[in-house]
This record gives sequence, structure tokens and C-alpha cells, in this order.
Amino acid sequence: MMKVTIYANSNPKSKKVATELHTKLTAAGFEIDDYAPDLVLSVGGDGTLLSAFHHYSDMVDQVRFVGVHTGHLGFYTDWRDYEIDQLIAGLKDDNGQSVTYPLLSVEITYADTGETDHYLALNESTLKKLGSTMVADVYIQDELFERFRGDGLCVSTPTGSTAYNKSVGGAVIHPRLDALQMAEIASINNRVFRTLGSPVIVAPYETITIKPQQQSHFIFTADQMDTQPRPIQQIRYSIANRRIAFAQHRHNRFWQRVETSFIGLEEDQ
Ligand code: NAD
Repeated sequence: MMKVTIYANSNPKSKKVATELHTKLTAAGFEIDDYAPDLVLSVGGDGTLLSAFHHYSDMVDQVRFVGVHTGHLGFYTDWRDYEIDQLIAGLKDDNGQSVTYPLLSVEITYADTGETDHYLALNESTLKKLGSTMVADVYIQDELFERFRGDGLCVSTPTGSTAYNKSVGGAVIHPRLDALQMAEIASINNRVFRTLGSPVIVAPYETITIKPQQQSHFIFTADQMDTQPRPIQQIRYSIANRRIAFAQHRHNRFWQRVETSFIGLEEDQ
């Protein structure tokens, strides 16, 4: 029988749904295993699914995810809290099918110690500077592309394209495409300083490398995680060789979800 874990946020409604899920899954014969699950059921919103992903990212090859939402419709949450019986019935008949999406691989080298850290991101990673302009050279496939001046840069996955990326003017990308997108955050463009000024979407095999041109401290984020400001030598982004898998997914109506979330056309328009 499938081993399942429930990962809920602290919201009372999510806790209630998690308890109900636990009772019904156990009654249906599923084993609850928080350490080596086959399936992670996240209960909450997109932020909860992001946290669940990071909690189990070391074993992302072995687990599948299902998102149950207890608030507004999310992009990673396919099931509503009142559909639990239907979800459990689907899991009982589950044949291991999944849909997978690309993840962002982040390799960050710090200028102070020269050490390199690796991260996986599901939505995006950003590099920003507070207080003064960030100056950084951007390389695509190790070739200098531009010198960026502005607040920062955001590199996102296709599933992350509807998150921070969209807020900074990036394009929404269908999640079945393998691609990385780099969007600018408030770039300075005038007769002296010039960047492309529009988002860039690179091919699956291409890398994006950002090399800050200052000794000062930068804010680096990967999804919800941020770090203490620190001098950074470079960050190298690529599509990870591991992917996230969703079970019992209903992600096939992607554009309808985009429409519902961001446009919300009235029936009679
Ligand atoms: P949060 O709960 O404040 O989330 C922010 C919003 O982003 C929520 O409405 C959430 O539903 C939505 N969201 C998350 N992933 C999404 C996705 N893939 N597509 C569409 N909407 C999505 O913050 P959190 O829980 O810490 O989540 C972290 C995420 O918040 C980051 O990965 C980033 O994408 C997003 N964020 C957005 C902005 C912005 O739009 N200006 C700024 C910071 C962080």
C-alpha cells in the first residue's frame, strides 16, 4: 500500500482538513509515513505546497505531490477541501501516473569564502540589492549578454511563471514546456545604461549566469527562502536534472486556471 504524508499549514481550516484526511486515509488502508513517503499531500495554498516541496526536495525523485487547497484556487493545488472522498477514491485506484514539471537548479558561489551552495527551486530564484543599484553581468551559455543595472533579476520555472515572475512583467509559460525565464526587476534604461528590457526565455540546455560587479551584499532568494545579505561571486541557473511529479493532477486546464486567477471574466461579458 502507498505510504502517504500530510503536510498542512497552521491555518485552523487546514488543520481540520489534515485531521480528516489522516482519519480517512488510515481507514482506507494507507500507511502514514512522514520520513519516506511515496506521496506528499499538501493542505493549504501554493505557499504550503512550496514548503512541502522544500521539506522533501532531497527525495523529489521518489515522491509525488498532491495539493489540497483550503483557501483561494492555487496553481499547485488541484483539489478542494470538500473533495477528499473523491481524492481518496482516486488514490486507491492510483497506478503511479504523474505529470512532471521542470525545477530550477541554482548554484551560488559566495565571494567571501569561495564556497558554493546548491538549491532547487520550484517557482523562482531572485538576486536583489537593497538601497543602491545592483550592477551585474548576465551570461547566457557563458557568453556575456548584458550588464544589468536596477533592483534585481528573477529567474523562474514555467510553473513559477505565474508567481513573482508575472508581477515583474514576465510572460506566463505553459508548464509542459521545459524552459527558464529571466525577468528584470526595475532595470535602469537610458542613453548610458542598457539592458534588453524584456524577459528572456532560454532553451532547456542553456544556462544563465549572473555575476555581480560589486563587493557589496546581495539578497538571494529561492522560492520562500531568503538568505542573509552576503557578497556573491556568481549564480548559475539551469534546468535541474530532477523534476517535480504531481499525482492525481488536474493541471491540464492550465489556461483556464490562468483566466480564473488573473482575469475572472464574467459569464455575460
Ligand atoms: P505568499 O503566501 O505571500 O505567496 C504570494 C502569492 O503567490 C500567493 O497568492 C500564492 O498563491 C502565489 N503563488 C505562489 N506560487 C505561485 C505560482 N506558481 N503561480 C501563481 N501564484 C503563485 O508567499 P509564500 O507562501 O512565501 O510564497 C513564496 C512565493 O511568493 C515566491 O515563490 C514568489 O513567487 C511569490 N512572491 C511574489 C512576489 C510578488 O509577486 N511581488 C513577491 C515575493 C514573493
